[in-house]
Amino acid sequence: MGSAAAYHLASRGARVLGIEQFTSPHNQGSSHGGSRMIRQAYFESPDYIPLVLRSYELWRKVEAASGAKLLHVTGGLTLGAKEGNLVSRTVAAARQHSIPFEMLDGAEVQLRFPGIRPLSGDAAVLEPNAGYLLAEECIRAHLKLAAGAGAQLHFEEKMVGWAVAGSGVRVRTSKGDYDAGHLAITVGPWANEVLGELFPLRVTRQVMSWFAPRGGVEPFLPERFPVFLMEDKDGVPGYGFPAIDGPAGGMKAAVHGSNDECTPASAERRVGREDIERIQRKVGGRIPALQGDPIRAETCLYTMTPDENFVIGAHPETANCSVACGFSGHGFKFAPVAGEIIADLATKGATDQAIGIFDPARFGS
Ligand SMILES: Cc1cc2nc3c(=O)[nH]c(=O)nc-3n(C[C@H](O)[C@H](O)[C@H](O)COP(=O)(O)OP(=O)(O)OC[C@H]3O[C@@H](n4cnc5c(N)ncnc54)[C@H](O)[C@@H]3O)c2cc1C
Repeated sequence: MGSAAAYHLASRGARVLGIEQFTSPHNQGSSHGGSRMIRQAYFESPDYIPLVLRSYELWRKVEAASGAKLLHVTGGLTLGAKEGNLVSRTVAAARQHSIPFEMLDGAEVQLRFPGIRPLSGDAAVLEPNAGYLLAEECIRAHLKLAAGAGAQLHFEEKMVGWAVAGSGVRVRTSKGDYDAGHLAITVGPWANEVLGELFPLRVTRQVMSWFAPRGGVEPFLPERFPVFLMEDKDGVPGYGFPAIDGPAGGMKAAVHGSNDECTPASAERRVGREDIERIQRKVGGRIPALQGDPIRAETCLYTMTPDENFVIGAHPETANCSVACGFSGHGFKFAPVAGEIIADLATKGATDQAIGIFDPARFGS
């Protein structure tokens, strides 16, 4: 979010200073692990669809300006009981915004994607425009464009405080003080630490694992296998990606959500056997090839809000300051439009995008 905001602000001619406590990209926050899913039939809420459509446009612009290929369209398969939450909400969202999709029954799923063994009663929504983003490449591209547009980017420098100063804000970091007209705080899972628990955010530990598909990678290459989300009886979806790096890279799969609360400092970064088994229980029933050994695994952090909608808007207590956090495990695809919105808030104090559901004041005091 910070790299996208820096790019949008700098490209509008603002003087921009980006401050990052580590190098970028890094693997301690929420934006690493190679890939992120992007899809349009937004089961979480149709309110996101205009924003995701804008994100598609902006990702293509970032690709054109940076020369990097970031967004790969593979199609996306949302699988579960026909009347279940995931499938029915995906269909409703697609219908409401005329997002292209196809409905498949279990037999059709197996015919098109022989690597999948649907459960009895399964139906699927196949969304042709879904796919994946190369996460770290997206950050690098935004940073490169931000720097090219004149942004100063400081790495290995930590913001330790800020205060209103005249008509702007004074920011203190581990290396010095800076005066600015506006401060945009995009600190991911560090939001509770930085904002002093201003919002009811819960940081949770997530595990992503890459598996060597049993029987070979061929049926799972991105030319013939989609990104996927699959729901079972407990309502917590499993998800995954085609083998985007070929045989050596394997297929990434994960469970969407956990109750493993932590902070970035306390999170257990070691991945245990029970983490891998949890993922395999979610996805291995329908994709038996994923019951094999993992090639590698990594942890990552979600920053959850109570309603799982983002927090984007003016800081409720500090003038000249905006916040963008609480992306609740589904924010990456929106990074460019979030950057555009942050740039609007910083330069005009308002945005034309419909961001009412992200209102930072909705949690009360
Ligand atoms: C396993 C996993 C899978 C996901 N899958 C998807 C997906 O498929 N599709 C999707 O759209 N989204 C997905 N998400 C969610 C998405 O990745 C996040 O919503 C998004 O990356 C959040 O970005 P961010 O900029 O808010 O946080 P981060 O990327 O963590 O960035 C915050 C940055 O702020 C810096 N920072 C913090 N405090 C300070 C300080 N005091 N001073 C200076 N710098 C500071 C940090 O070092 C960090 O670089 C997934 C997340 C995870 C963990």
